[in-house]
This record gives sequence, structure tokens and C-alpha cells, in this order.
Amino acid sequence: MPELPEVETTVKDLWEKILGRKIEDVWTDFPKMIKKPKDFKGFVREIKRRKIENIRRRGKNILITLSGNKTLLIHQKLTGHLLLGKWKKKNNKWQPPPGPLSEKVNTYIHLLFTFDDGQQLALSDLRKFAKAELFNKDELKKELSSLGPEPLDKSFTFENFTGALGRARGKIKQVLMDQTVIVGIGNIYSDEILWQAKVHPLKEISQFSEKELKNIYRAIRKILLLAIKLCGESISDYRTLSGEAGFFDKARKVYRREGEKCRHCGTVIKRIKTGSRSAHFCPNCQLL
Ligand SMILES: [Zn+2]
Repeated sequence: MPELPEVETTVKDLWEKILGRKIEDVWTDFPKMIKKPKDFKGFVREIKRRKIENIRRRGKNILITLSGNKTLLIHQKLTGHLLLGKWKKKNNKWQPPPGPLSEKVNTYIHLLFTFDDGQQLALSDLRKFAKAELFNKDELKKELSSLGPEPLDKSFTFENFTGALGRARGKIKQVLMDQTVIVGIGNIYSDEILWQAKVHPLKEISQFSEKELKNIYRAIRKILLLAIKLCGESISDYRTLSGEAGFFDKARKVYRREGEKCRHCGTVIKRIKTGSRSAHFCPNCQLL
């Protein structure tokens, strides 16, 4: 699933490329993807001819502010990712131009917006869990009200971090992925952050010393900033707007490196189950 660095990469790119454009048309072959308004015709009617006034990120949500006080929220969920380009329609299928957009991972197009300059924003999603919703200001505020703080905000101090953790219980890996505690971190970056901080993924929140918490806090910022710089991680389906892979794969220290050697000490990386997820870690660097 795209996490903070992937969504941030997409949002920055969208801001440069579609700000000020008008939505001319919308197409889907999977109307269930649109959660609000529930009928697709109503959605098209509501969104057509609105101008894109801003694009920002909140947690893993992409928020596209439209003229007339509406916001389009897109959550890419497991395998969804946005692409920008020009497609040609053939037998109700969209034919991509040659290049990265024609790679298999980018061809599961189920939602597509056409802008006034002919550019198109497409959502490719193999598993079809992604969602799009149109909100007014109050509805959006309510929708996002349960989200925790943004870890990369300048105002997010160590005290804010421990404050956010204060209400949480359980194992650190799961707590880091809880969007009501802190936003943007999922399976990939929780593993990488905990390796960086030399913390075992199954350690209970209540067991941490201040020094360990400081290490986690620093690791969160370091890893997320590095991943943004590298345009995210594409070991799964995430691709940038142009359909290309991000570069974080090579910077990975533990995520999906089970059986390979720890880049710090050479010990073999292990994978353990925690809840419904897996955690990857170095049993030597990250003691319980
Ligand atoms: Zn190690």
C-alpha cells in the first residue's frame, strides 16, 4: 500500500502538473470505487467543470480541492496508484501510450478524469480497493477527524510524538501503523523505522525508555524524508505519476529481505507475524 512517501511524491507531482486545470469528464468501469455520492452519474454531474484549486496530502489521503468548496478525496488503498498521461479508448478499454504507462502494473485502469488541456488522470488498481469521494468542507473535516498528527510537520516535536503514543497500547509495530496515533506509516516504513531505531517490532509501548522513544522519533523523520527523496518504494504496485518505479527499493534494510543479511551486522533478517501483518527485523540489532 502506498504510504506517506509515495502519496507525498504523487501529490507534489500533481500539484506541479494539474493545478488550475478544469475537469471535463470522468469515466469508470467500476462505479463502486466512488463512495460519495454513491451514484456515478451524480458524481460526474457534481465534479464536471470544477477547477482544481489545490492538491494536498493528509495521511495517506490525496485531497484535491475543487472550485465551489468541494474536495475530491482519493485513497489508493492496497494496489491503487494515480497516473497522468493521455490514453486512447478502444472497446471500453484505455490504451496507454508507449513507455512506462504501458507496463502491466499500470494497465488496471478503473477510474479516469479528463482535463480541459486533454491530459488525463487515471487510477490503476489491480485489486480495486481504492476509493474516491467528493466532500464539502464540513464533511471532509469530519471524515479526517480521527487521523493522528503528521510526522513530518515542522510542529511535530518529540513531545507531540510521546503525547500521541500516550493514548496507545500494544506492540510498537502495530502502534506505528495506527492512523489514529500517527499518520502515513504502514508495513514498509514501520519495519524500516524500527530497524533504524534498533527496536524490536513486538516490543510493548509501555516498555520503552525515553532514549528508545527518541531513537524512534528520529528514525521516523529520517526514513520518511529519505523515502520521499527517493520517490517512494515500488516493490509492490506503487508507481509515480509517470508510471515509473520509485527508488527506495535499494535503500531497504529489512522490509521483504527475509533470509538476506542485515546491512549493519550480517545476521540473517527474520520475518514474524504480528496481527494480520508481517514484521521484518534483524534479531541481533533489534532485541526485545
Ligand atoms: Zn543487524
